Amino acid sequence: MSCTFCKIIQGQIPSTAVYQDEFGYAFADIHPMAPVHVLVVPREHISSLDAADESKRALLGHLLWAAAEIARKKGLGNGYRIVVNTGEDGGQTVDHLHLHLLGGRLLNWPPG
Ligand code: 5GP
Ligand code: ZN
Repeated sequence: MSCTFCKIIQGQIPSTAVYQDEFGYAFADIHPMAPVHVLVVPREHISSLDAADESKRALLGHLLWAAAEIARKKGLGNGYRIVVNTGEDGGQTVDHLHLHLLGGRLLNWPPG
């Protein structure tokens, strides 16, 4: 098993847990881009959003809900951003589907 995020989910690589349930795990990004920078990942290995087929519809919704729940618990009432980098042009560097939750400062738009 060479996937970094699978290793994190299994506890083989340490991480700072933020949220977890039956379907997903969330942990602090090792290189935070904002005061709050959390990664929300499915427990099952899915390589990207593009690889998530119709059978993953409910799981995708659950992960999005979990990200919003974490944002509420983190007190991000002033706003936040959810990002899913996908594929090479999307800047995806870890091939295990993940949602970035970014908040705690004003975020620029559009991205570079
Ligand atoms: P991507 O560029 O694929 O959208 O995002 C991957 C994210 O994973 C990056 O923000 C990077 O900092 C984070 N990351 C990569 N390796 C690790 C790790 O071992 N631990 C943690 N906590 N985050 C990681
Ligand atoms: Zn994985």
